[in-house]
Amino acid sequence: MAEETIFSKIIRREIAADILYQDELVTAFRDIQPKAPTHILIIPNHLIPTINDVKSSDEKALGRMITVAAKLATEAGIAEDGYRLVINCNKHGGQEVFHIHMHLLGGQYLGPLVT
Ligand code: 5GP
Repeated sequence: MAEETIFSKIIRREIAADILYQDELVTAFRDIQPKAPTHILIIPNHLIPTINDVKSSDEKALGRMITVAAKLATEAGIAEDGYRLVINCNKHGGQEVFHIHMHLLGGQYLGPLVT
C-alpha cells in the first residue's frame, strides 16, 4: 500500500491550500512555490504514486485532469497565449511528491522545454 503524501491532506482539506476546483475524481490547487505567474497542480483524488503505477481503471481520473486543466487555463486567461502541462516521474523526472500531479504552468513565455 502506497504511503499518503501531503496532497491527500489537501484533498481532505486537513491542511490549507488554495483549492480552485474539486469534484469526485480530481482536485486542483495553486502550487505553494509557483514557477510561473500561473502554476496550478491538478491531482487525482485517489493516490497513484507515479505515472508508472497507472492502471486502466485510473483513465477516467487522468482524463478529467486534462479537462480540468483546460478549464482552469481558460479561467486564468492564459488559454489563447498557451501554457504547459507537465507530469514528472521519479528521480530523473524531478518528482518530489509521490502522488501524481499535473503542473499547469503559464502566464509568461516558458521557452523551450530543454535548453
Ligand atoms: P514535483 O517536483 O513532485 O513534480 O512537484 C511537486 C510540487 O508540489 C512542487 O512544485 C511544490 O512546490 C508543490 N508542493 C509541495 N508541497 C506543497 C504543499 O504543501 N502545498 C502546495 N500547494 N504545493 C506543494
